[in-house]
Amino acid sequence: MTGNLLDGWRAEEYGRSRDGIALRVFMPETHGPVGGLLIAAQHGEEAATALLARRLLERVSADETTWAVVPVANPDGLINGTRQNAAGVDLNRNFPSATWLPDHSFTYPPGIEQERRVLDNRTNLSSPGEHAGSEPETQALIALIGRLRPPLILDIHSPLELVLPCGDVPTGLVESLSRAAGLPVVEALGAPCPGAFDQWLIEAGIPGIIYEVEHAGLPALCARHLPGLETLVRSNSVI
Ligand SMILES: [Zn+2]
Repeated sequence: MTGNLLDGWRAEEYGRSRDGIALRVFMPETHGPVGGLLIAAQHGEEAATALLARRLLERVSADETTWAVVPVANPDGLINGTRQNAAGVDLNRNFPSATWLPDHSFTYPPGIEQERRVLDNRTNLSSPGEHAGSEPETQALIALIGRLRPPLILDIHSPLELVLPCGDVPTGLVESLSRAAGLPVVEALGAPCPGAFDQWLIEAGIPGIIYEVEHAGLPALCARHLPGLETLVRSNSVI
């Protein structure tokens, strides 16, 4: 690796954000089918997930994996420090699943203390988009998934500290990730999430794992989560 360049990874633009920023996927060296797709920073205030994905790209060279990686699914939000994209849309409420709703969605303000995460404090308002799948980031990600046809998707968020399998994900793989990082496996989140990416994945028949890290500094996040994630993306027989 030299400077900011990554060893063998090919950065491809797969679309543009609402504000016109390039959406980039890092492709492995192989031109064959991908083993999976890892996505981070769909919520822009979860910047640590983008950094974690970047550290993964630096540790795993492009010839050691068949996975593709989108380190920043929501660059507008990352730059603005917001959950939403530049149009105020929570991308994770914009997917064209049967659960999509036109109502504003409520989430916790970024960085809220753990003890204040009670329903009354869900005061961060987002638009779900003018219609299901209205946002360029959502459309581009769906098109990318249609093109790559990954057999598994790992979507990294924070700060819930859990692993949530969606659809037909091999139990052993979920347990390995859970064990490596000491994260509990849960079957569902407590609050409804209409138009969420995981719901769309289930309806599309694409196995997915929502991987939620804790609120912590980057060294702690790397120490806890990179070993399991590295093992996952280095494995060429995940499904
Ligand atoms: Zn999130």
